[in-house]
Amino acid sequence: MSQQGYVAAPPYSQSQPGIGGFGPPNSSLHYGHYGDPNSSYSTPQPGVSKPTVPFGSPAPVGPPPPGAQQFSQSSFQNGPGTPGQQPHRLQSPPPPSNTGPSYPPYSHQSPPTFPNTAAASPPAQLADQLNSMQINNYGPGAAPSSGHPAPLQGARLPPPTQQQMVLPPGPRVPPPPTNSVNGLCAQPAVPPMARQGAIPGPVPPNPNLPQLPGQPPGPGYHPQQANYGPQMAGSQLSYPGAFPGAPAQLSGPPQKKLDPDSIPSPIQVIENDKAARGGQVYATNTRGQVPPLVTTDCVIQDQGHASPRYIRCTTYCFPATSDMAKQARIPLAAVIQPFASVPPNETPLYLVNHGEAGPIRCNRCKAYMCPFMQFIEGGRRYQCGFCNCINDVPSFFFQHLDHMGRRIDHYERPELSLGSYEYVATLDYCRDKKPPNPPAYIFMIDVSYRNIKSGLVKLICGELKTLLDKLPREEQEESSAIRVGFVTYNKVLHFFNVKSSLAQPQMMVVTDVSEVFVPLLDGFLVDFEESRSVVTNLLDQIPELFADTNESETILAPVIQAGMEALKAAERAGKLFIFHSALPTAEAPGKLKNRDDKKLLNTDKEKTLFQPQGSCYEALARDCVSSGCSVSLFLFPNQYVDVASVGLVTLCTGGTLYKYNNFQLEADSPQFLRDLRKDLGKQTGFDATMRVRTSTGFRATDFLGAVYMNNTTDVEMAAVDCDKAVTVEFKHDDKLNEDTGALIQCALLYTTHSGQRRIRIHNMGLNCSAQLADVYRACETDALINFFAKSAFKAILSQPLKTVRDILVSQTAHMLACYKKNCASPATLSQLILPETMKVLPVYMNCLLKSCVLGGRPEIPTDERAFQRQLLMAMGVADTQLFFYPLLLPLHSLDLQSDAVPAAIRCSEERLSEGGAFLLANGLSMFLWLGAGVCPELIQGLFNVPSFAHISAQATSLPDLDNPFSKKLKHILEQIQSQRPHTMKLIIVKQREQPEMLFRQFLVEDKDIYGGASYVDFLVCIHKEIGQLLS
Ligand SMILES: [Zn+2]
Repeated sequence: MSQQGYVAAPPYSQSQPGIGGFGPPNSSLHYGHYGDPNSSYSTPQPGVSKPTVPFGSPAPVGPPPPGAQQFSQSSFQNGPGTPGQQPHRLQSPPPPSNTGPSYPPYSHQSPPTFPNTAAASPPAQLADQLNSMQINNYGPGAAPSSGHPAPLQGARLPPPTQQQMVLPPGPRVPPPPTNSVNGLCAQPAVPPMARQGAIPGPVPPNPNLPQLPGQPPGPGYHPQQANYGPQMAGSQLSYPGAFPGAPAQLSGPPQKKLDPDSIPSPIQVIENDKAARGGQVYATNTRGQVPPLVTTDCVIQDQGHASPRYIRCTTYCFPATSDMAKQARIPLAAVIQPFASVPPNETPLYLVNHGEAGPIRCNRCKAYMCPFMQFIEGGRRYQCGFCNCINDVPSFFFQHLDHMGRRIDHYERPELSLGSYEYVATLDYCRDKKPPNPPAYIFMIDVSYRNIKSGLVKLICGELKTLLDKLPREEQEESSAIRVGFVTYNKVLHFFNVKSSLAQPQMMVVTDVSEVFVPLLDGFLVDFEESRSVVTNLLDQIPELFADTNESETILAPVIQAGMEALKAAERAGKLFIFHSALPTAEAPGKLKNRDDKKLLNTDKEKTLFQPQGSCYEALARDCVSSGCSVSLFLFPNQYVDVASVGLVTLCTGGTLYKYNNFQLEADSPQFLRDLRKDLGKQTGFDATMRVRTSTGFRATDFLGAVYMNNTTDVEMAAVDCDKAVTVEFKHDDKLNEDTGALIQCALLYTTHSGQRRIRIHNMGLNCSAQLADVYRACETDALINFFAKSAFKAILSQPLKTVRDILVSQTAHMLACYKKNCASPATLSQLILPETMKVLPVYMNCLLKSCVLGGRPEIPTDERAFQRQLLMAMGVADTQLFFYPLLLPLHSLDLQSDAVPAAIRCSEERLSEGGAFLLANGLSMFLWLGAGVCPELIQGLFNVPSFAHISAQATSLPDLDNPFSKKLKHILEQIQSQRPHTMKLIIVKQREQPEMLFRQFLVEDKDIYGGASYVDFLVCIHKEIGQLLS
């Protein structure tokens, strides 16, 4: 940096020409369509079909002609107004069979209440979190109503894929329908009746486990006093050791150990679904249809309901009454991932533009036009599927109905026939009724002593030089519209002027961090293309500029505040990329002290470890959200940084938290740089507000995710990217109508990265039934676990962890007991009967209970628990599935001829073999486990060393070798990695050597050394609980 450019003038000696200099937004460039509906048709968005009629024109169309039949469908489709029509995507889908349910007759109902109560204070929200767990706790006497219809009766015959899992099969249970489709015939390898009592007592601690006292639980963890033990064992009331011998009702002669192959296998369930539905086209044309599992690859075709990539539900059939819901205690929830990535072979969302008229919405409930609206009176009016209100069809939108009562343009308009699409928003949907500016990214780098010395600052600056060329942009644009800005900091802040007209970047120092001020506006947020040379110059100079720093203390809250103020002043939404290392101890707002205290574990105060310190970061988060400022935090801690406090801003603003413990340049750069590249390039919606509307009888009551709630209905997200999911819980208001079903519409208002305001709509129709069996039959365990995990991780902010764990166990038992009592054929008490769709709920639930977040173990750093907790709160179903039940692949038997990833195996030590090599991944960590007897050829092929003894366990990547085995493995690693938001660092584990203990924690079917129950033990525990509930 040139000396003349170095304006080291404390504070603000410079006038601020920029304030007036930002001028009016350059609206003509980006917003030509506002006020000119037709102009937008000349620049179609990628993947957007052109409308076949100029429906953007708000000009009145004459009264509709009397007879719809005079316009044949073909003449309409070929009619005027379709210049340059692209091949229509909506060609010939079979008519949705259930999207146009019969609607109840118009009635003068009072409008549904959409409480818009005063903003709930943050403390009130914490209190609500408590309730979210307790609400499900319907109390002990949840006995079924006596008049309940017998299950499995009536017209709703189970489809062939539905069968109940019986353990062991009772003589009176009718044989399940033979089903060769999903291979479940193999499953009834259940033990005979006589073996019921065989369920063993507590499994002794793994005898093969090497005793490695004092060993750090793995890379990235602090060395800790190993103190395995009694705290945990004593704290978990419900399981391990709670079963000295078989439960009483499991009478019978003593038996040998329960065969793990006879209990439901998650791998079998996953493989069966892949075999039945993998590689196929899944059309969303039926209300209440249960989609393929999240682990099954298929092509999704939107035919009236949102793709399961966008919405997955805990059950696709809601109980008709709240009494039924209370009885079954199945959470009614939808996991909504509004920006989910879609693979290239699926169609991106269509964009609908009604010009100045804006989106068509129900007058009463404000739901958007969608396939659930029923057109009547020859097409002049429509009845809202959500609130039943009758609305007039705007004249520009009028169309005749065919003999089926369907508009003849049904398949030409995304908003009439698709589950998901986008609307161009009008100025009414913009802040201050002004079109938004494109967003900005501000890079804020901690340049304190340690980051300079470790080479981290140099690494970041070097990477940004090339990365800024890859900012997200519209397909038809040459460069990104996103502005960029740069700040460095330690105890003070340094802003940089990188205006394109400057020969050298200029630095302005802000020393007063108690009330941060943005010292420059003009030249701070720039177009990278225009300012390339100045920015490159700056990035070259930053590491040099601070090379001699001695400053070791840092601030953080003022940094976030400064970034937010800069965005605010520039009237832009955007994202802060903050690269930070240590607990912010410098004297400034948001100063934190080390309050980590292991003595709090397993006490009622443990929850405080997950709560933020003071109110500063919470207030900051709220301000960030209200100004559309998202914060992604890249942490490089050597010790406690109080993730619970600093990460809160990230969580509330829809940013992403990354953490690289004890960052080593050599070993950890690839992981960090890949994360940074991915984060920067992610498809993101900015300054977003989401609203979930429902049909009458139920409503959304809780929202779990990287969101902020100012009131009870508007979900605010400073940004939302492709990996973020909001889990929405629903509750009954009233009885649901079985004919019309339960309809959900998620509307997300946001700003694109080019600065266009849009509304993304996802519609989903679910069934309703008065038969409990229908509800169970339509459940999805992966979504259930997502819900349970998020609600538990929210509840630990306000409740003792033990209470939260007990609620999870009790709710699992209740759900299964209700099924057994109401839906299964009469069976003896000693049978464990699981609904087909919940066969693996116990094993997944046990994984959740054993997770380091819910289990207070002194070996796991508090920051790690807070980190995992925050990550999980934002996860979608695919990520929680992998997180709780890791992928374990045998590598020694790779088929080198095939491209396929080998079939996974169950996460249990007994599935490993001394002569094998196995890969394990859970989305955050990845291990390559090598058996002591693994063959030398394999070692040579992977590591290019002659024997097991030569392998270095320090390596975090595999060498690039020119042999088929190495190439194939690299390919598999890449495939697993590419679908996950966080980069997993590879850890090499040699059997019976040090990091093996960490690896074993991921063998989630086994009992763990900290006292977490094995799958078998947990199943026994749940069995016993069910028995008690039903006795
Ligand atoms: Zn309505």
